[in-house]
Amino acid sequence: MRVLVVDDSSTMRRIIINTLVKLGHQDFAEAANGLEGLERAAEGVFDLIITDWNMPGMSGLEFIRTLRAQPSERRIPVLMVTTNAAKDDIVEALRAGVDNYVIKPFTPDTIREKIDAVTGRAA
Ligand SMILES: [Mg+2]
Repeated sequence: MRVLVVDDSSTMRRIIINTLVKLGHQDFAEAANGLEGLERAAEGVFDLIITDWNMPGMSGLEFIRTLRAQPSERRIPVLMVTTNAAKDDIVEALRAGVDNYVIKPFTPDTIREKIDAVTGRAA
């Protein structure tokens, strides 16, 4: 499974990727904001996108809105990992096309459960 990890914090990208490695994933690309995320998504095939919300340049919300507005896009599962914990924020993200939501800080178990849910592997 190829995963695109989008976060403006290189430390957070490292934490997410380290978590994914522990969960058995091996194939990653990284982007530091929504614009870079769109570039990566246009370059290659991904099975999952994990994106932050708050990023300079283009936010995760705009990234996913733009991605979902592209008519040719396969519907890549999207997990948003963010500090935005308000219920209104979660609703807004889901409306923008995010499939599931993880609030930082997270545990590896939470990431695993949410990945299973958005990729259709949940029991
Ligand atoms: Mg951020």
